Amino acid sequence: MKIAMIGTGYVGLVSGVCFSDFGHEVVCVDKDPAKIALLTRGEVPIYEPGLDQMMARNVAAGRLSFTGDLPAALAGAQAVFIAVGTPTRRGDGHADLTYVMAAAEDIARTAQGPVVIVTKSTVPVGTNRQVARVVAAANPGLDFDVASNPEFLREGAAIDDFMRPDRVIVGVESARAAQVMEEIYRPLYLRDFPIVTTDLESAEMIKYAANAFLATKITFINEIAALCEKVGADVKQVSRGMGLDGRIGKTFLHAGPGYGGSCFPKDTRALSRIGQDHGVPMRITEAVIDINEEIKRRMIGKLRDLCGGSFNGARVAVLGVTFKPNTDDMREAPSLTIVPALVGGGAQVTVTDPQGRREGEALLPGVRWEADAYAAAAGADLLVILTEWNEFRALDLSRLAGMMAVPRLADLRNIYSAEAARDAGFVAYDSIGRAGFE
Ligand code: NAD
Repeated sequence: MKIAMIGTGYVGLVSGVCFSDFGHEVVCVDKDPAKIALLTRGEVPIYEPGLDQMMARNVAAGRLSFTGDLPAALAGAQAVFIAVGTPTRRGDGHADLTYVMAAAEDIARTAQGPVVIVTKSTVPVGTNRQVARVVAAANPGLDFDVASNPEFLREGAAIDDFMRPDRVIVGVESARAAQVMEEIYRPLYLRDFPIVTTDLESAEMIKYAANAFLATKITFINEIAALCEKVGADVKQVSRGMGLDGRIGKTFLHAGPGYGGSCFPKDTRALSRIGQDHGVPMRITEAVIDINEEIKRRMIGKLRDLCGGSFNGARVAVLGVTFKPNTDDMREAPSLTIVPALVGGGAQVTVTDPQGRREGEALLPGVRWEADAYAAAAGADLLVILTEWNEFRALDLSRLAGMMAVPRLADLRNIYSAEAARDAGFVAYDSIGRAGFE
């Protein structure tokens, strides 16, 4: 089967590469010529573990190619996936569908048909029908179906998530679209991963409901963590005790500095707008959005307290700026709130991140970049762990304490313990939802 993939971002590129690994012929298209130039040279524009090898293998096998030429990509394709961005629309919180609709019109003008137009981007309920209307209006003679196939991969573990998904959601309303989608995902059927076939609206809704639920789970434990600090409980013990209950589950119960990333913030905002538009306010999701902002502000307060009440003149070293480990993605990362507050408050800030510098340099003005945690910490008055990269999980705390001007540690990912920090020579330690010392 020949597949065209529109958009070579985190989702489009991973999906295209993995579909080619299934054995399909995949042509990936992007409107950004710089990305296509990189990809054609065999370079990967994003950091995603394992993607470069899988991409190279499938290019070499002749199943995977990249182009800016949409008509060539669509020629003979039985399915075309739309995997373009759906960021928050400026001003109102809705998902911005400009890129999706532009892609739909491009397809309508170029496709020969019969073709299934599959929306992989996260889109509000009703969008697939809107895509169908836009395509039919732009090219009334085109023989096409639509399908909704929201993506659930996590950056940093994207290949494994795509190749071994918890489930694949396919929203269709015609037997022909169902059959094409089944053929595309046949390798997963054979390996017994559940493929859930629904109507278009349910497929669209599943994606928002799932993301809002996960954002709620994180925010719930973050709020419990704030209470733990006041009552003398330890949130790590609390979340373990909760998570062992099979009805609750262990994942997404790690307290931290608030969720960020390319999906949870924008998808919770979009869901709350969809609810408002339909007169069914998503009150839990709305509360989650507000509480998450509060949590990020609370982190700034913690750091200010550790600096003795003011950032002015403090030398602060920040470990990790990407929104989570194993990605270079900086979209809505907590660092984008916390680091500017440090710089704005008069701190001298050094930062380090294994992959974040390329994106982060422009987004975090006024900081000095260092190669690793030790270089960043030298001479600092406060060390902040913001992203739990493996590189920061087994630091030599004694060495760090020894090279800092005032050894104080803000462990915003609960990697270490007050005891370990004290033993290493730190004079102050704070984390999330656990006792610290000063
Ligand atoms: P991204 O911004 O990384 O990539 C989008 C790509 O689409 C860009 O390269 C852009 O140049 C290209 N593009 C836009 N319009 C185009 C057009 N008309 N023709 C060709 N190319 C075009 O976005 P992403 O992170 O991959 O997200 C894509 C969608 O998938 C979003 O709806 C997102 O919510 C959803 N999603 C993302 C993730 C994730 O972890 N990033 C996970 C699940 C779902």
